[in-house]
Amino acid sequence: MARKFFVGGNYKMNPATKSAADGLVKLLNEAQVKGDVDIVVAPPALYLLPIRDALKTQHVQVSAQNCYLKDSGAFTGEISPAQLADAGIPYVILGHSERRTIFHESSEFVAQKTRAALDKGLTIILCVGETLAEREAGKTTAVVQSQLEPVVKLLQESEWNKIVIAYEPVWAIGTGKVATSQQAQETHAEVRAWLAKSVSSKVAQETRIIYGGSVTGASCRELAAQPDVDGFLVGGASLKPEFVDICNAQA
Ligand code: PEP
Repeated sequence: MARKFFVGGNYKMNPATKSAADGLVKLLNEAQVKGDVDIVVAPPALYLLPIRDALKTQHVQVSAQNCYLKDSGAFTGEISPAQLADAGIPYVILGHSERRTIFHESSEFVAQKTRAALDKGLTIILCVGETLAEREAGKTTAVVQSQLEPVVKLLQESEWNKIVIAYEPVWAIGTGKVATSQQAQETHAEVRAWLAKSVSSKVAQETRIIYGGSVTGASCRELAAQPDVDGFLVGGASLKPEFVDICNAQA
């Protein structure tokens, strides 16, 4: 089964003004998207609904950048999966390395949030990836598997069609140091083989594994040509016109 190409734009805590956010919407509304691709942008929570409502293109959907576990309650600063679902937000990014590092989210906590988001019908862009020290110590596969294991334990096989795995080596995020197509392909193939063993060969074949880490308009085509690279999660370049080139990387 061919996996549909997927490109996510993670705006992080950008842009700094609503008028700049309007500029990003304009870019997306005017984009010439070729081919069959799921495009999902993740603005800050404050801009989720205005951006969703201003998008005129059916090609683009929106995602939250994070959510908590519970439906509601005394959790100051958090957004619940129930609230996202009620607002019609179809996607949420979970386990981004900035959440894992700066906000100390463990893989178990990310798995619990994945469970909670699935229970509300959301689709999860689930981020995993190793640090430079871990890669240099030859631990890339072990680290990525240890991040996925708690998720595997909490999911039924049939729920994996609501998971997009984003392989994002921490050393490549926001550094300008993109993984080579060979490095990305190798890790994606290992994740797929591990999914076959740990879940099922159907899930391994059908789950999209996208790459994230300093992807640009210049680097996207070679990466997209790899057999196990099913798209991208894009940070910095999602705020620039070249995001459209990245969306068209496989066209
Ligand atoms: C990200 O934050 O998910 C990311 C991949 O960022 P960048 O493209 O800027 O490296």
